[in-house]
Amino acid sequence: MYRLHTREVRVGNLAIGGTNPVRIQTMTTTDTLDIDATVAQTIRCIEAGAELVRITAPSKKEAEALGVIKERLRAAGYDTPLVADIHFTPNAAEIAARLIEKVRVNPGNYVDKKKFDFIEYTDTEYAAEVDRIRERFTPLVRICKEYGTAMRIGTNHGSLSDRIMSRYGDTAIGMVESAMEFLRIARNEDYHQIVLSMKSSNPIVMVEAYRLLVRTMLHEFGECYPLHLGVTEAGDGEDGRIKSAIGIGTLLEEGIGDTIRVSLTEDPEFELPVCKDLVKKALPVQPGLAAVMDVPDGGVLPTSPFMPANETADLLNLRRSVAVRTIGGGQVPVVMADFMKAETVVPEQLEAIGYQYDAPTDKWAIADGAADYLFLGAKAINFALPGTVRPVVFSRFWKGLPEAQQADYLPLFSPEEWKTTDRQHSAINFMLLDVKDADRLETQGFFRKIESDPTIVLCVYCTEGPPKKTIAQFLQAHPELTAPVIICDMSAAATVDEQLIDFSVTSGALFLDGLGDGIWLMNDPDRMQDVQVSGRTYLPVGSTHQFLNNTAFSILQATRKRISKTEYISCPSCGRTLFDLQETTAKIRSATHHLKGVKIAIMGCIVNGPGEMADADFGYVGSGPGKITLYKNKDIVRKNIDSEVAVEELINLLKEHGAWTERVS
Ligand code: SF4
Repeated sequence: MYRLHTREVRVGNLAIGGTNPVRIQTMTTTDTLDIDATVAQTIRCIEAGAELVRITAPSKKEAEALGVIKERLRAAGYDTPLVADIHFTPNAAEIAARLIEKVRVNPGNYVDKKKFDFIEYTDTEYAAEVDRIRERFTPLVRICKEYGTAMRIGTNHGSLSDRIMSRYGDTAIGMVESAMEFLRIARNEDYHQIVLSMKSSNPIVMVEAYRLLVRTMLHEFGECYPLHLGVTEAGDGEDGRIKSAIGIGTLLEEGIGDTIRVSLTEDPEFELPVCKDLVKKALPVQPGLAAVMDVPDGGVLPTSPFMPANETADLLNLRRSVAVRTIGGGQVPVVMADFMKAETVVPEQLEAIGYQYDAPTDKWAIADGAADYLFLGAKAINFALPGTVRPVVFSRFWKGLPEAQQADYLPLFSPEEWKTTDRQHSAINFMLLDVKDADRLETQGFFRKIESDPTIVLCVYCTEGPPKKTIAQFLQAHPELTAPVIICDMSAAATVDEQLIDFSVTSGALFLDGLGDGIWLMNDPDRMQDVQVSGRTYLPVGSTHQFLNNTAFSILQATRKRISKTEYISCPSCGRTLFDLQETTAKIRSATHHLKGVKIAIMGCIVNGPGEMADADFGYVGSGPGKITLYKNKDIVRKNIDSEVAVEELINLLKEHGAWTERVS
């Protein structure tokens, strides 16, 4: 276990980077000018474990209020450092930098403006723009240096400036360059109390940008500044947790990341248990870190060679396996539902994995999130399954089935069983493989033998070492194995939240890097506790099958490998938010959750919302008290409509653009 060695940065009494533990933080959602509410919420966050609390400062008034908030907290005995969140207003940043421990600036809007214009710059014009930034940004750097204030240069994928977009496009390179311009200016002033972030609502872009930033800093400066990790606008409930865990967990496991924030559209104190679970899972050895990795020669980090340069449909499934029927070969990853421990299986149980049986008509209704394979262990079922799901059983049980049934059921072999079998299925044979046995099997020439069998689908898991890394290394070490690979992932955690993180950090990270043709999640149903998250039950925890199936599809959706539901990009809300974001998100979700593949952004304010809703198809943005503005992509299509009718208007808009379908009840 290693971590990338970064510079140590002091934020008040807190040290970030270097050999320090990964720090966890959050951001308040109250109106900053409501001092009582902001102080109370900050205290709740601190008590929940926040080591740093960010507060929005949209104008000079709020920046000044931060000083009062800080005093009130200190008087109450809390010395947790505060961070001012700045967008568009250098004046507010310069005030806040004199009052509190850290300021966050967004290079996309600190000096540059965003009007979604495409401008062709000559090199001279471009350099003149960077000089303009230097002029406007340097005073803040000097104030921070004088007052010992730290700074985060926080790039957001969704709010890159027109200038950066015009030259680099909507890419990770653009995100990195946007931050590097500011970082170079600060270094020229010999100011180094800097933390950087590269956030996106898409974990693939986010991970790529952080990896690229590390490489760029190492290459240009021979050192790395601490990194603040986060996935923006991740949303709420399980999807928000999964998206964040995939993005943040992938990087933490690679040794990248010094402080994290999990942004959820929920009260900020609920973000902190998720942060803790994530750090515990990804870096079990902290705070006594086993090893801190110094910059290797040439600055090359052990990142995945499968990482896409750009996210395009034909990069789906980057390992490029050869298809075995419906599995692999660039087809969407399949989902295996695990019913091994169920004593019997009856049609009603399949509702948990997307199949609803209607006895009077003897028909199955199939949901978008319906599993493709059903692992039964050592039992058969006595009813006809829908045609879209195939049963899988242990090979020793399969051999005992009557010949007619052997065609319908698919066998799962261990390597030893397969080596000695006298029979196998003519179409698909699953092979369960613990990668810890890979070396032994290799010396026995096992992989050469299965290489030539066009019916084999590997089901890989790992019982020794960090599973994501070990499985990835195995697959990368065996490019000759072109068989499709199903990632088998088992969680022994007792809570829903921890299981979500376990699955996201292993399976999610592998899919994010293009590894995997299928997913098979398992847990121990006896250990599952009926946990309420954020004070409410948002998961179908009553059914472990449903939980596992939903989680599998959510991981595939978050890594954009298989889209089976509506995607929501919702901001975590802050002091600028103009409506009840949680309630509105729930309302919009309940009206639109059946619109497979549609991306809807729900953003709290018109100042940052439109810039940060990334690649959403439709946007619902607060534009004034009780007023909503609706967007189609980046274009305003309904301005300042009454919030009472805004959800209805959003549905009308979806209809106008052919994105609406009636729900089948
Ligand atoms: S988009 Fe949301 S989180 Fe971002 S500034 Fe506006 S209200 Fe705050």
